[in-house]
Amino acid sequence: MKGAEIRKKFLEFFASKDHDVYPSASLVPVDDPSLLWINAGMAPLKPFFDGRKVPPNPRIASSQKCIRTNDIENVGKTARHQTFFEMLGNFSIGDYFKKEAIDWAWEFLTEHMGLDPERLSVTIHPEDDEAYELWHRRIGVPAHRIFRMEDNFWEIGEGPSGPCSEIFYDRGEDRGCGRPECNVGCECDRFLEIWNLVFTQFNHNPDGTYTPLPKKNIDTGMGLERMASVMQDVDSNFDTDLFRPIIEAAAEAAGVQYGRKTQWDVALKVIADHIRTAVFAVGDGVLPGNEGRSYVIRRLLRRAVRYGRNLGFDRPFLYRLVPVVGEVMGEAYPEIVEKGDFIVRAVKAEEERFLETLAEGEQVLEDYIEKVRSAGRTTLAGEDAFRLYDTFGFPIDLTKEIANEQGIDVDEEGFAQALEAQRERARAARQDVESMQSKRGVLVDLEAPSRFVGYDVLETQTRVE
Ligand code: ATP
Ligand code: MG
Ligand code: MG
Ligand code: MG
Repeated sequence: MKGAEIRKKFLEFFASKDHDVYPSASLVPVDDPSLLWINAGMAPLKPFFDGRKVPPNPRIASSQKCIRTNDIENVGKTARHQTFFEMLGNFSIGDYFKKEAIDWAWEFLTEHMGLDPERLSVTIHPEDDEAYELWHRRIGVPAHRIFRMEDNFWEIGEGPSGPCSEIFYDRGEDRGCGRPECNVGCECDRFLEIWNLVFTQFNHNPDGTYTPLPKKNIDTGMGLERMASVMQDVDSNFDTDLFRPIIEAAAEAAGVQYGRKTQWDVALKVIADHIRTAVFAVGDGVLPGNEGRSYVIRRLLRRAVRYGRNLGFDRPFLYRLVPVVGEVMGEAYPEIVEKGDFIVRAVKAEEERFLETLAEGEQVLEDYIEKVRSAGRTTLAGEDAFRLYDTFGFPIDLTKEIANEQGIDVDEEGFAQALEAQRERARAARQDVESMQSKRGVLVDLEAPSRFVGYDVLETQTRVE
């Protein structure tokens, strides 16, 4: 079953249960300074959940575009994480509660998706006996496939909060780590989390106590790409029809083959993921730039360019994938096709700019290496690696890669010290740095922990894992 069909069936199913189907909101949050990106189906519906607005119908379903940069390190490594994904969700604003949410999730998965009930497990909060009874007695999930987990509680500081229940699908022994204790919660992706049902039933009071809410809400989220990987019985989200054409196009352009070499595969997955994110972000009006959301997109694109280098790309290539994303996703999201030319231009310009900087930096690095050699040494000074980073945005990995190719080491400790010294200076002169929006930092690698922490904090605030 194709991704588009899953999306359609999900929305039709909940429409048949009297839900209003909402189109996806923009990735850019409206009136919500606590969020950088929309990162869950519930996020654009917050005014309904906290009572600021009343929806015409308390039952809502959607397929929502989401961005989660806090998952970036997982992209290409796990089978299940992207920075951009679609979340299918059904929501009840003070209307139905646990019983219906559980009944319908089960009905959709087993009857409409045809999943084998034997392969489904669920987690619940340790104190949520109500959910246990529903899963066990009403639905018939055997006790050994119901897991009580402390983490299954959703809250964002004070305000509405509650337990959640997650549904996992067993993808089979051959997709697992093989350890005897492997089960739900194992790091290998054999047991794949597909759907999270949040039961918002308490108010978290300022004094730390919890009291029942007069009107309880339901907020659920199912990852479309994960569901597609299950329905298509493939190894990862990247092997579904939602990704394969993008991966194939990138592989063909690079002259490599997908599924041959882990290093290539990781690069292809990262590229396919990041270009999707960029296409949708630019489509929603976020251009690469130096601040906030724009900065995230700049860094994602530059990260993709760097992975592209591992595949041998030394000229702009990402922009050529934009129409492929349009082919895969354009029917559901016409905006990315309508704005296709604009997106192509934005992506290409960013690639060109970054490649220029990289080329300049490489020239400088060659000079450094030459000096190291003629002095009869084998290690590039940390200071020099730092200068490359500071002026040309060369992540340390890239410097190491190029130096190592020529038999030269890099003094990483010296680099770290120079970086720390710079941070100290920056702290001392915070105002100057802020007003300058200096080039420094703009090109900093996405892995650099210094700036992403803040976004992660923002992002994870809306949902508990
Ligand atoms: P995980 O534990 O696998 O990281 P999560 O618990 O963080 O997932 P939720 O916040 O519960 O995810 O989001 C609801 C659903 O959205 C998940 O059950 C999953 O199907 C999907 N989802 C979450 N994060 C991602 C992602 N980075 N890429 C693709 N799908 C995702
Ligand atoms: Mg979850
Ligand atoms: Mg989880
Ligand atoms: Mg997560």
